[in-house]
Amino acid sequence: MLDFLRRYSREQLDSRRMDERRGFHLSLIPDLAQAGLFGLQVPKRYRGQELPHSDTIKVWRQAGAIDCNLLILLAVHNTLGVPPVQHFAREEVRAAVLPELAQGRRLVTSAVSEPSMGSNVRAITSTATKRPDGSYVINGGKQWISLGNDAHHVNLFARLTDENGQDTGITGFLVDTSTPGFVRGPEVVTLGLKAVPQNSLSLENLHVPAESLLGEEGKGLVAAKTAFTQGRLMLATGALGAAMRALEMTQRFARRREVATGNLAENGRIQQIIAESVAATQAVEMLVEHIADRLDSGREVPEPFYFAAKILGCELMWQVVDRCVQLLGARGFVDTNVVGQFYRDYRLFRIFEGTTEAITVYLGSMVLKQPQQFLSIFDEFDLDPALAEYVDRVDKLTTTTTTGGQQRHILAGQIGELACWAILSALTAEGRTRSSMHAHTASWSEQQLADKLRSAEESRPFVELPTADELARHIGDFESSIGNVEQRRPGIQHDLDLLLRRG
Ligand SMILES: Cc1cc2nc3c(=O)[nH]c(=O)nc-3n(C[C@H](O)[C@H](O)[C@H](O)COP(=O)(O)OP(=O)(O)OC[C@H]3O[C@@H](n4cnc5c(N)ncnc54)[C@H](O)[C@@H]3O)c2cc1C
Repeated sequence: MLDFLRRYSREQLDSRRMDERRGFHLSLIPDLAQAGLFGLQVPKRYRGQELPHSDTIKVWRQAGAIDCNLLILLAVHNTLGVPPVQHFAREEVRAAVLPELAQGRRLVTSAVSEPSMGSNVRAITSTATKRPDGSYVINGGKQWISLGNDAHHVNLFARLTDENGQDTGITGFLVDTSTPGFVRGPEVVTLGLKAVPQNSLSLENLHVPAESLLGEEGKGLVAAKTAFTQGRLMLATGALGAAMRALEMTQRFARRREVATGNLAENGRIQQIIAESVAATQAVEMLVEHIADRLDSGREVPEPFYFAAKILGCELMWQVVDRCVQLLGARGFVDTNVVGQFYRDYRLFRIFEGTTEAITVYLGSMVLKQPQQFLSIFDEFDLDPALAEYVDRVDKLTTTTTTGGQQRHILAGQIGELACWAILSALTAEGRTRSSMHAHTASWSEQQLADKLRSAEESRPFVELPTADELARHIGDFESSIGNVEQRRPGIQHDLDLLLRRG
């Protein structure tokens, strides 16, 4: 598969054209299907490849290094679409649907987000009503659904009301998109990832049979979480592939470029930036490989590992790409040098499948509620005294007294970030002796943890922030400096989002 992807990239893929035309060439899906890339982890009895996690992440890293559109096309189907069907659909549905999905004859996506909710999945407003015959009627609207108009199946999440009119909670359904009442909406125009379309969807008295249920009634978030955890590992690994490719090009350029101080690669400041980027890349690689190995050996993966992968993987790898744009100078800003397109495309990774802020605060709140449970993660690591002391200091910070919700959110954000760095530091420290680069990566991770810890400790007592109303009044006054310049008139195609308009 890796050979196929490399050759396909060299000989057939045209990333610039996909980006400019906002679409894939016609043979892409059948070609990828032929190579087995739509059934990566589906069991062989359903015609899939049954890859272990350690091989699957190699596919994500490879696809990510080639093109974000390619990665996300494969990943939406393989990580968001397939796992809920594989693990939560009834056996007769699995037997009918999975072979088609695994062979790429039909695509599947996932529809969670709505106009009024994104990160807060518990706030889903689409409704499902159970009928006396056991079937369901779904109504509502979904937004930003990748492949929403192209997929043959959608894992749809809605709030269920049972036969007695009781709210049963969020429930998942596998919906065939040819069902009457599944109404495809317009495509949104995005900053990057332009070849993978996102659509809004309307669900208008969409009538689905009892067998479309994914898992149990009211337990839809369990199915959704299976997809999210796989998705988080995929995003970190795909971004890692992109960072590796961007660094490869940056290194070539730096070696070949002469500046006022001599060769660019030998300028100490530049060497430092490259060394930090390499350390970040190696640290993220160690984290995703560790998660994949644990999964393959049947060991439990503590949830904070997935959060660390999503948060640090996507943040750090995008920073690496951003630095590469910078180090390439004007060549970084030129849109035909790959890195510029990566800069736009991979920006998304900090936003979707849990924004950095939302999941950092969530992770921090988890740690604040049960610090000992989080600390037990480190029992299996042989922490050196310095690292053990840092982990102790993180624990001490969890006892910080807060006054009001605002300070609790700030504290949770700090603790969530520190939790991620503590995991990364413990993991990289374990690999310290493998090579001099590993030793550098371990020291770099520990330094990051120390810096973030110091900055959190020094932020006590919390600085009093302006109130949300004060901020709104102040920013509202900007109009007296910059006026009303909204371009909203008949004929302007891409109108401003309703939540962003004046008044
Ligand atoms: C290209 C693209 C493809 C997508 N594909 C899909 C798809 O296939 N299926 C699907 O269901 N959805 C999809 N989405 C939607 C995506 O998952 C959401 O955009 C994402 O979850 C963020 O939600 P939101 O945009 O409503 O932002 P919001 O949740 O409204 O967040 C707005 C801001 O608030 C911050 N924030 C939110 N909650 C908290 C918190 N608790 N603490 C602190 N800060 C917080 C966020 O970090 C962000 O800065 C896609 C989006 C894009 C752009």
